[in-house]
Amino acid sequence: MSTLLPTTIVGSLPKPAWLSEPEKLWSPWRLDGAELAEGKRDALTLAADVQRHAGLDIVSDGEQTRQHFVTTFIEHLTGVDFENRETVRIRDRYDASVPTVIGPVRREKSVFVEDAKALRAQTDKPIKWALPGPMTMIDTLADKYYGSREKLAWEFATLLNQEAKELEAAGVDIIQFDEPAFNVFFDDVREWGVKTLERAAEGLHAETVVHICYGYGIKANTDWKATLGSEWRQYEESFPLLQKSTIDTVSLEAHHSHVPVELIELLRGKNVMVGAIDVASNDIETPEEVAATLRSVLPYVDADKLFPSTNCGMAPLARDIARDKMIALAAGAEIVRAELS
Ligand SMILES: [Zn+2]
Repeated sequence: MSTLLPTTIVGSLPKPAWLSEPEKLWSPWRLDGAELAEGKRDALTLAADVQRHAGLDIVSDGEQTRQHFVTTFIEHLTGVDFENRETVRIRDRYDASVPTVIGPVRREKSVFVEDAKALRAQTDKPIKWALPGPMTMIDTLADKYYGSREKLAWEFATLLNQEAKELEAAGVDIIQFDEPAFNVFFDDVREWGVKTLERAAEGLHAETVVHICYGYGIKANTDWKATLGSEWRQYEESFPLLQKSTIDTVSLEAHHSHVPVELIELLRGKNVMVGAIDVASNDIETPEEVAATLRSVLPYVDADKLFPSTNCGMAPLARDIARDKMIALAAGAEIVRAELS
């Protein structure tokens, strides 16, 4: 990356009200058929545009073409029954009705490649595409076929790798895997989580990112965060493993979280996407606040490896708030960039 402190969002942006009900996670589409296809494509164009106007350096699709960051990918696979749903506990935190694995999982066609080509056509800047990570995928499903979380994770890792390679061929520069489950299932992370993630990223020339967060700003997550005490040390479990992994970049929460900033030292040598924008609050950060967060991490990450970002996706926010937060992110990074040069 030629720019110092390249800015980017974690992934999702609010969708326009004509596409789905605003300020609501996973809200159903308001269009269907050809109108839905066109509406998704228009929303993707708008998402790229708002990031460009805000001055961000790496552009994402704002996840405008997916209803849910995990299930939209799974919907395109065979071996999963979406009619026969079960209620399971997600990340040990909240119950959700999820699809069931009933046979061998296969990806018979690409999921996001056409969308990625559409984003590629929008901008000459580097583009980033997010996929769910294997562990977070199995945590959002009921399994009646494999009988082993690890076995199913390896299967998903293979399918994710196929998709990631096609995204790379479509011109995606950075491929991100969302693994919030890494903040919950520490034994699994150690035993097979990082290995299956590396399998998903195997052979890619694109830069690779793993995003690990404390979740969207929804009630189940804010209630959970309230039980975590004054210091959130969950990253202490995964960071040393990721530091030794083949993944290039780790995306983490920082601003307004109780994560001790010195834990970032555990990633020394990796690129770090630092969340300088709180996605659980409607208050717009000032550029100076963003700059203060970035300065606070500089003792623990080399400046040429620091990517200013958001804590998580912004899908549940109002559109003008998400836009103003992106503008603040770009302006805050610019302050620190000037100080460093
Ligand atoms: Zn997140």
